[in-house]
Amino acid sequence: MAEKNTVKELLTNEIKDLYSAEKQLTKAIPKMVKGSNNPDLKEALSAHLQETQDQAARLEEISDLLQIKPTGKKCVGMEGCIKEGTEVLEEDGDVTVLDLGIIGAGSRVEHYEMAGYMTAISLAQRLGATEVVELLNQSLAEEQGAEKKLRTIASALVKTAPTEFEIETPEKAQTSQAR
Ligand code: FE
Ligand code: ZN
Ligand code: FE
Repeated sequence: MAEKNTVKELLTNEIKDLYSAEKQLTKAIPKMVKGSNNPDLKEALSAHLQETQDQAARLEEISDLLQIKPTGKKCVGMEGCIKEGTEVLEEDGDVTVLDLGIIGAGSRVEHYEMAGYMTAISLAQRLGATEVVELLNQSLAEEQGAEKKLRTIASALVKTAPTEFEIETPEKAQTSQAR
């Protein structure tokens, strides 16, 4: 395990973590595109795949600036998020409901990434690494944009998704038990 005595060491660890996350996503997003049904969702995910590749390249650039290596760490958090996304993709059912599940998984991914970029930005600011901060901010803005796009699509989809046929309230459940 890498020692962390300085901001630079912690930032290095965060950059490696983000790089691993982005690399994992470049493989996972195409599966989400394939598994989704709504054309807007497919489009949003495809566009974010391109951004994800750019973000990985940006982290390589950042690593050059910091004179570190971006490789050598596995982001287990993202591995978990992707695993949950894979579960969603394996389910059967109403296409709109399934799409909403994919968006839920995608939204978790974006928030996870946003947390990582925000952390790295504050550390890079402390080091006075202006160029690094700039590059990290570009990626953060893309993650925020992707999350917002997903949320917009979800709010449209949820209106057309089938609800439950009958909502079982606690009172109703009691009545049916009494019968
Ligand atoms: Fe990303
Ligand atoms: Zn991580
Ligand atoms: Fe993302």
